[in-house]
Amino acid sequence: MEKPAVCGGTPVRDTKIYYGHQYIDEADVQAVTEVLRHHDLTCGPKIGELERKLCEITGAKYAVACSNGTAALHIACLAAGVGKGDEVITTPLTFAASANCALYCGAKPVFADIKEETYNIDPKEVAAHITERTRAIVAVDYTGQSVEEEELLEICRKHHLAFIEDGAHVIGTKYKGKPNGSIADMTTFSFHPVKTVTGGEGGAVLTNHEEYYKKLLLYRSHGITREESLLEREPDGPWYYEQIALGYNYRMTDIQAALLLSQLDKLPMFSARRKEIVARYDEAFRKLPQVRVQKEIPESDTTRHLYILRLAPDKLTIGRRQFFDALGAENICCNVHYIPTYYFPYYERLGYRKGICPKAEKLYEEIISLPLYYAMTEQDVEDVIHAVTRIALYYAKE
Ligand SMILES: *Cc1c(COP(=O)(O)O)cnc(C)c1O
Repeated sequence: MEKPAVCGGTPVRDTKIYYGHQYIDEADVQAVTEVLRHHDLTCGPKIGELERKLCEITGAKYAVACSNGTAALHIACLAAGVGKGDEVITTPLTFAASANCALYCGAKPVFADIKEETYNIDPKEVAAHITERTRAIVAVDYTGQSVEEEELLEICRKHHLAFIEDGAHVIGTKYKGKPNGSIADMTTFSFHPVKTVTGGEGGAVLTNHEEYYKKLLLYRSHGITREESLLEREPDGPWYYEQIALGYNYRMTDIQAALLLSQLDKLPMFSARRKEIVARYDEAFRKLPQVRVQKEIPESDTTRHLYILRLAPDKLTIGRRQFFDALGAENICCNVHYIPTYYFPYYERLGYRKGICPKAEKLYEEIISLPLYYAMTEQDVEDVIHAVTRIALYYAKE
């Protein structure tokens, strides 16, 4: 029996590897440097170029680039008309922003449970939580696997709800052959450095609906417009503009947009490599009874942002915390995605209690996010598999 490093064995590697890392090449550096020599650092031509490219990649009609994925969710909720007294249904197995965006608008996040094997929000649970106050759903493509678009669309149409897809993980994924980003009423992306493509920070909202598009533009920039059809009064000069709603400064810089344009050129390459790594992990971990792999719905052709190792507690003598620490001792530095949102003290103060979504809560106790990013070498991948295998077998329950 191979001894894990945590019990005095030699670590499988002597340098640390992390769960995620950006990949920046010379073309990215060039693209950013070029913008710095131009007149426009923000609100310049790179923004439109990026928006056109996002439309091209996803097939959506409109794209609105903004400062980050959280801002994207906020303006998507505002464009959907989410306001005081409304309810917004979302999953607890996500980053806090997926629910915070409802709070920003004065609405109440309502948490619907996940499916046991895919870990994505369960459309049946969504349907069960609809009331006359429900205004929108924010569905998260957890790890990059598409949510069940058809089922969710049907629910939203039937109940006249806005379908917002938090696609922070999903760029590169297709649902029934259609890129995610062109399916829900609005899809938001995040370009944080741990995500599949990065702008340092950055976000976008994609939509096929002109009404949403116009509102998104307004909310992104203070609620200010120069568009003639929207003006309420007569212009008194060429400088004239009006503020007609309360918006924010959620604009993206041209520096970020240039980096993103260059990164998006590499999306097919990023996507292919991520798929390879996931296939290798799945193959290795399916052989281990001590762990479980995330189930994929056949409709989703997934570019994974995260790889989730789920422990089988009845097959192991140690818990998640010890497994996580044992991986750390092998120099495999993991993470956990996510603490259920309503566990946070802030949400507790709002009246949320444990027990709302039992499946998500159980999953949270059993998961570890393994390293997954483009620049991983074959050796890195094999090291992760070696480490997981040696720990799983050492602590196997007879
Ligand atoms: C990263 C992330 C966000 C927030 O994006 P930022 O760009 O960091 O603001 C929102 N939702 C999910 C699911 C995320 O993973």
